[in-house]
Amino acid sequence: MISYIADFTDAARDARHPAASDTTDLMSVLACAPSARGEGLDKLLRIFDEASAGAFETASGGNLAYVPSGGLFSAALGEFLARATNRYTMLSSFAPALIAMEEGILRWMAELFGLPSTGSGLFVSGTSVATLTALAAARYDRLGLHSAQGTIYVAEHTHYCVRKAAQIAGIARENVRTVPTGADFTMDTSRAEEMIKSDLDRGLQPMALVGTAGSTDTGSVDDLHALADLAARYRLWFHVDAAYGGFFQLTDRGKKKLAGIEHADSICADPHKGLFQPCGTGVLLVRDPEILRRTFSMQGDYLVDAADERPLPDYADHGVELTREFRGLRMWLPLNLHGTLAFAQELDEKLDLAQHAYRSLAAVKTIDVLSEPDLSVVAFRLRGASDQVNQKFLKEMNGTGPFALSGTTLGGVHYIRMCILSHRTHFDEVDEAVRVITEVSGRV
Ligand SMILES: *Cc1c(COP(=O)(O)O)cnc(C)c1O
Repeated sequence: MISYIADFTDAARDARHPAASDTTDLMSVLACAPSARGEGLDKLLRIFDEASAGAFETASGGNLAYVPSGGLFSAALGEFLARATNRYTMLSSFAPALIAMEEGILRWMAELFGLPSTGSGLFVSGTSVATLTALAAARYDRLGLHSAQGTIYVAEHTHYCVRKAAQIAGIARENVRTVPTGADFTMDTSRAEEMIKSDLDRGLQPMALVGTAGSTDTGSVDDLHALADLAARYRLWFHVDAAYGGFFQLTDRGKKKLAGIEHADSICADPHKGLFQPCGTGVLLVRDPEILRRTFSMQGDYLVDAADERPLPDYADHGVELTREFRGLRMWLPLNLHGTLAFAQELDEKLDLAQHAYRSLAAVKTIDVLSEPDLSVVAFRLRGASDQVNQKFLKEMNGTGPFALSGTTLGGVHYIRMCILSHRTHFDEVDEAVRVITEVSGRV
């Protein structure tokens, strides 16, 4: 198993996109029920290998299609340790020093985003669950148990997980307002204010404002200072979705773009994106973890004071899960092993690569580039061509190059995105992609 993983990891950077055409007989895999007496590991590994080889290639340096990419080997090792030892981490009394390791990483992250020293949170599976946790806490904090009149404000480019979370958290669908964006794909703050005022006039209860620090489509970052001011003026909970963009905070340029995030009441970020962690690694950070405890603790408010005297949190009281994965270790090991500077340099490199791709593509006569990237997503399309031709362009490129790009719709128009966020993507990969894009743009 270990040598299989070592071989995979050695070959990962150059793995081809798209994956070799999948010849697996799905029906035979489906029919493979566990046998009574078990099978040899070699056979099982072979079945896995075939199935995995037919999947979308996530680990390659040419994965320029989707945000979660990479998957650090050292994170897998941390995970292996955590899984094999299988400690309980739902209540601090079960494993105090292990909780301290996890809490140490949470506090480091809270400090990275400029939250006060009370800042902490919870590791969860990803931003979808982190957002649900945040909005449930926001609703309970601002509206208590009477939430029917509560409204929240998102933007056109807000990830759909926020609507999904709102719906599960009991915020009426018709009370989720979509604020238009300006030409730069950021939330129009004055329109947001008009909507809040009009809701107040109608007797509704504006409750939360959601900013985005790095949209999935274009990497655009909202004006977080302006949104924080607006939220403060109307006493709204200020939530920032930094799923994709958050860890650029480790770089000087990212920190400038994300200025204002320190005013957030809650922040979601995805280590399975910006810290190159394996899928299933998200984080919720909050200014005041007491609000999480009030929302999620099932022991009742009368125990909150007693809990305050404990030096470490019971994570079961910070969110939905009781028995939970010890996710902290898969970050603790790589961050301590490689050092935070290694991560900062990797992310800085991604910003450079996006600038390189942007400038190179902007110089190609047959291509329109959307705008200079805020972070590491570059959106472009064939100049003067229909959406249909652009879709063909995307297909043709993905069939030609050792990489994968993806498509999206911006303002009703089809664009192609190059998203650079794998620790295995370096200059060679991006330069080759630019070369192939340029070549294909001349012949579709
Ligand atoms: C990926 C992403 C999400 C969803 O996060 P999951 O971890 O997939 O649940 C939300 N918002 C943004 C901006 C994202 O990029």
